Parts: sequence; structure tokens; C-alpha cells
Amino acid sequence: MVAFSKPAQNFSFQQSSTVWARGEWSAVSVANFFRIPVLLGLITLGLFINGTLMLIGTKIFRLMKTGMALLFFTTLAAAQPFTIAHRGASGYVPEHTREAKVMAHAMGAEFIEQDVVLSKDDVPVVLHDIHLETTSDVAMRFPGRKRADGRYYALDFTLLELRQLSMHERTDHKTGKPVYPNRFPATMGGFRILTLDEELEVIAGLNRSTGRVAGIYPEIKQPTWHRKEGRDISSVVLRVLAKHGYTTKEHACYLQCFEYGELKRLRHELGWKGRLIFLAGNKTKIDLAELAKVVDGIGPSIGAIVSGTQVTDLTARAHAFGLEVHPHTLRVDDLPKGIQTSDELMRLLVDEAKVDALFTDFPDVTVNGLKKAARP
Ligand code: CA
Repeated sequence: MVAFSKPAQNFSFQQSSTVWARGEWSAVSVANFFRIPVLLGLITLGLFINGTLMLIGTKIFRLMKTGMALLFFTTLAAAQPFTIAHRGASGYVPEHTREAKVMAHAMGAEFIEQDVVLSKDDVPVVLHDIHLETTSDVAMRFPGRKRADGRYYALDFTLLELRQLSMHERTDHKTGKPVYPNRFPATMGGFRILTLDEELEVIAGLNRSTGRVAGIYPEIKQPTWHRKEGRDISSVVLRVLAKHGYTTKEHACYLQCFEYGELKRLRHELGWKGRLIFLAGNKTKIDLAELAKVVDGIGPSIGAIVSGTQVTDLTARAHAFGLEVHPHTLRVDDLPKGIQTSDELMRLLVDEAKVDALFTDFPDVTVNGLKKAARP
């Protein structure tokens, strides 16, 4: 019973329970017993004070965030057009890796893009394709897990399995050769897959540590296909966005999709109040009046805006309906036919077509080029 002679030094729930188990009541154990409610009372009071402070803190934090968002979009409006890092700084580092996103942020991209697909356990991961074999070693690591069409689907792998993959520079699905031979060597891997949650955390961290806010630009990939597989990718993505504070048009976020039906669903059925972009690809005959009821802008391919060395009237027509125009994608190693330099392309897009933003694999080239080409 030596321990009980110095209760101040020896008080613990473990010691009391030992006493109780042994059925030995002592003055000290009784004193310990009465200390529990006092301790619990103190803990409750502490939690109450802490909770109140947190509530006040959260309110201030929210106000600061709104202020930052307003400042962000005001700055953007004054400095348009802006750069969207396509899959990160994907011209330099394999697409959608953490390294590509950090590099894009460091290069000054105003927005950083995330393509999103679901894993088997419903985790949104940042991948351009629903397939895995063109950007990872899945065929080697999980032989026998392909579908009848010979392809490996992210949806057939749990996050734990996806985390085992080594990600690399994009290769052609049929030939296995790098799509862009002068970029990061496709034989070098060691890169890892990111969940949407992890990526948004990286960007939030960089926004804070650098003091420069980069927005996010998530794309919901193939929602109809996901639905056929029994999944609702849009609802899952919205939950992650809400968790990171992206819910309204004040927040630095554009949500994009190729499927207009899904954009309507996001707006009307799922209640998304943030910005929406309809990815138009090469389509030029699009119902802009109809689109303007739902979305904030369109993402056409550069080919729909620049034809040879002339610009089309698509941007002007979209602007007439109040729609922003964010064409994709500037690649210095894959310029459109007839265009000699990226500066020439940016001059056409910005000075002549007057686009509002530009997707790029080379954020540094675009950040600098857009400054030079910026409209007066
Ligand atoms: Ca995309």
C-alpha cells in the first residue's frame, strides 16, 4: 500500500481501479473516487471555454476567408486572363502528382486543375483517366486485374491498392511509348497517387505558407460511366469540396465537366452554388443561351478558338451571354498547326479572341506569356 501513502503523486484511474478490484477501501482511494467528478467538471469547463473560443475563431476565420476570396477574384478580374495549370505543371513532372502541383503553385498559376475518378472504396482520387495503365505500373504490380477489354480501371482498386502504384509520365495505351517524348522520362517512377482530399490540403498549405492563393479547378470525370457502375461521383466530390470550404462563387474554385446533363444536376439537384464550366471540346455549335442558365463559362479546345492564324467568333458569342471562356490546352511541345511559338498563340487567344483564362501544361510559360499578351 506504499503507493497510496502519496496520493498527490500517484493519483490515476488505473491505481483506483486496482484498489476497487482488490476490494480494499482506503481513505486515499475514497479521496481519489471523489476527485473524479471534480476532474470531469474541470474538463467539461475546459471544453466549454475551448469550444466558445473555437466558435469565435471559426467566425473570424470564415470572415477572413470570404475577404481573401473577394480579394482573390477582384485581383483576378484586374489581371485577367489567368493561368490554369493543366494537371499541374504536367509539361515538366508527371501529371497529377504532388510534385506537379507544388511546381505549378511555385510557378504562379492562379488555378491548379484536378481530374477526379473514384476508387473501389468510393474515394475520389486525382487521375485523368478511369484507366490506370498509361500512367502507372498497375499491369506489372497487379497482373490479372484487368477487365475483359484488357484495361485496368481505378474503380476496381481500393485506395490501399492504388497507393502501391508507382505513377509515371503518360504513355500511349497501344504502343507503350511516351506521349510527349521530350518530357520527364516515363521510365522513371516513384511518384504516388493523390486523393482529392490530399491535393486540396497541399494547395491550402501552399496558399498559407506562400501567402499567394491559388484556386482549384476540379473536373468530374465520366459521371455517366460512374453511374453505370453504380456510383455517384458528383455527390462524393461535392462532399470533399465542402470539407475544404469550397461551396460558393466567392471561393476560388471552378468545377468542370464534359457532360452538360451532369452540370445541370450539380446545379439543380445537388445544390452546388459554386462556379461551373462546361467543357465544350471541339464543339462550336453549342447553345450558349441555354448554357448561360446553368454554367459560368465554357472550356473549348484551342482549336475551337484559333483556326490557322485566325480566331473564331466563339469567345465573342460566349461573352455576349456573360460566359467566361477558358480554352485548353497550351503545350509548347505540341502547338497547333501553323503556329510557330507559344507567344504567337497567346497573342491570338488573348489580344484577338480575348479569352479569360488558359489551360496549360507549362504554367511558367503561360504566366509570363499572358502578362505580355494581356489586353489593355
Ligand atoms: Ca481535365
